[in-house]
Amino acid sequence: MQRIRNGASPRVTVVGGGFAGLVAAVTCAEAGARVRLLEAHRTLGGRARATTGPYVAHDGPHVLYRDGPWWRWLADRDLIGAAGGVPAAGLAGFRFRRGGRLRRTPPAALLPVLAARRRRAPVDADFRTWIRDRHGDPAADAAANLMGVATFDADPGRLSAAFVWPRLLRVFAPNPPAQYVTGGWNGLVDRLAAHARTLGGTGRPSTGATACTSPGTWSPRPGCSARCRSTAR
Ligand SMILES: Cc1cc2nc3c(=O)[nH]c(=O)nc-3n(C[C@H](O)[C@H](O)[C@H](O)COP(=O)(O)OP(=O)(O)OC[C@H]3O[C@@H](n4cnc5c(N)ncnc54)[C@H](O)[C@@H]3O)c2cc1C
Repeated sequence: MQRIRNGASPRVTVVGGGFAGLVAAVTCAEAGARVRLLEAHRTLGGRARATTGPYVAHDGPHVLYRDGPWWRWLADRDLIGAAGGVPAAGLAGFRFRRGGRLRRTPPAALLPVLAARRRRAPVDADFRTWIRDRHGDPAADAAANLMGVATFDADPGRLSAAFVWPRLLRVFAPNPPAQYVTGGWNGLVDRLAAHARTLGGTGRPSTGATACTSPGTWSPRPGCSARCRSTAR
């Protein structure tokens, strides 16, 4: 930032054009840096990509959380587009698998855990142990198994309680913050990439983000000598 104040734009290279890389590139460009974004694949977005329709399958994320940092950051730049919560019909279809059967209600052992919403979870205790010490093994197993869905981890019980606990509360929030982007995440990634390119094409000549969308090609300046590793995708 010191160099920006002095008038010289720092150069920043962001490796990886997934969601994090795109956000980093845009943020740096907005702060006045000259940004190169290197992406190994032919398409930007990384795990945030989805298949094209008519049936959309997401490689990873499918939900934006209204209480999360991505939401605020995207909303500030008007990049979210249309989004909505879980439709009532979808909520009615929710099932919990326990004892080998699908049930409408969560395990009873979870209820005292959820009743203690105001508790603060420690960073230096694992989630399973932290729940078990207060509520016993059945509650710890139920909570840890359930959080596999929200943390995308095979064994969330071993993760920090401070990381897992707010995510469990999110799942059972009275007004769930999960928002589904209409049309899927490809549109979101495309809007973000287009925004990055816009920054590359405007403002001071030495300021901006360049996004590599295909091996060896840079937008908005094709033919730039920067190299991208190519893998077929
Ligand atoms: C199953 C699943 C579901 C999820 N659901 C949600 C959800 O609903 N909501 C949510 O908010 N989050 C969700 N997440 C988390 C979310 O997917 C990640 O937080 C986010 O996509 C990670 O983005 P990233 O840019 O850090 O990494 P990635 O998306 O992995 O991107 C990394 C990029 O870097 C590129 N790269 C790697 N190495 C190099 C290199 N040497 N040179 C050039 N490029 C390179 C890769 O090709 C890739 O494009 C989910 C995750 C999973 C696994």
